[in-house]
Amino acid sequence: MNNISKQITRMLHQGVPSDGIRHYLATQIGLAEQAIDVFYSVFDVAIHFLRLGIFPGQIVELLVKRGIPQPVANEIVGDNLIYSRILYGECPLCRQKPPHAVIKGVLSQVEYVPSVPLSLPSPMTWLHCSACQHIFTDGYHQPVVQQAIFKFNQLDPVSDIKYLESMHIFSGDRVNHVGHYQADGRWLDVGFGNGSLLHAARECGYQPVGIDLQRKRVMELQQQDIEAYCCRLDEVPLPDGQCQVVSMTDVLEHIPYPSQYLLASHRLLAKEGVLLLSVPNRESRIWQLLDAQGNNPFWYQPDHYHNFSRSRLYLLLQEYGFQPLNCRISQRTRMGIEVVARKIS
Ligand SMILES: [Zn+2]
Repeated sequence: MNNISKQITRMLHQGVPSDGIRHYLATQIGLAEQAIDVFYSVFDVAIHFLRLGIFPGQIVELLVKRGIPQPVANEIVGDNLIYSRILYGECPLCRQKPPHAVIKGVLSQVEYVPSVPLSLPSPMTWLHCSACQHIFTDGYHQPVVQQAIFKFNQLDPVSDIKYLESMHIFSGDRVNHVGHYQADGRWLDVGFGNGSLLHAARECGYQPVGIDLQRKRVMELQQQDIEAYCCRLDEVPLPDGQCQVVSMTDVLEHIPYPSQYLLASHRLLAKEGVLLLSVPNRESRIWQLLDAQGNNPFWYQPDHYHNFSRSRLYLLLQEYGFQPLNCRISQRTRMGIEVVARKIS
């Protein structure tokens, strides 16, 4: 059962047509037609509810009520949990209702003929909002999956001095850049990772504060006498208007609803405080060249939900009370831009 469930899950999420899966079940596993129907309906229910964002434990209960043995139900929900995203019910930036055009992914069959059929990442479907031109994935990961991907991705060698020194140079450059607009005060870095930006900010006279979802990193920073919190930005227990700088480098594309983080930044910033953002920019020439080659990694990052353009990002900033002041090409983020914006209202 174990292997069948995993195999079916992967085939379903890789967009294998149902005929292909039925053929596999009949010929490779030897299931009778009636059993195949049952199998299908169970998977359908599990995936449908996962995409609606229903708690996985409740879905298992529902399958058990339908007569599926508990271990089998656990297996099916668990396997599909990895691949099933919670679908956006509307554009995550402008709230335009579907349908949104599918520009890449399994629905359009544009690409994704998986060469290694059993490995992550699962196929990603990208949508285009005709109202605001934003490009976003059809859904976002279940929180438990998001955490797992996040932990897997954050393995920077923090004790390697050569590495830290190169990060120090990149981070110092970002601090110098922000310094043109805000020369001192409390600097809150969101998703500080190895902490290099906060250390550089402290060296230049700012009072650093960090938040990160990795408890180990938060404890490390606290041991270095830097104020740090392990939480999301919109949950941080800091009073309004106490920060002069908020930085989010390579953060917004990972957040299901970026406006929540912009609202929180606005709340935390003092009057005329500044925001530093970096994101990959799909208006980059390199982006377009890599697209033409079919070799652009940003369509395949399992932990990215948004492909921003500079122009859409600027409109979003203005909508949430920020005036963009400067945009420059990032030395750190691939095809990225770094934008400094001031809180204006
Ligand atoms: Zn939109």
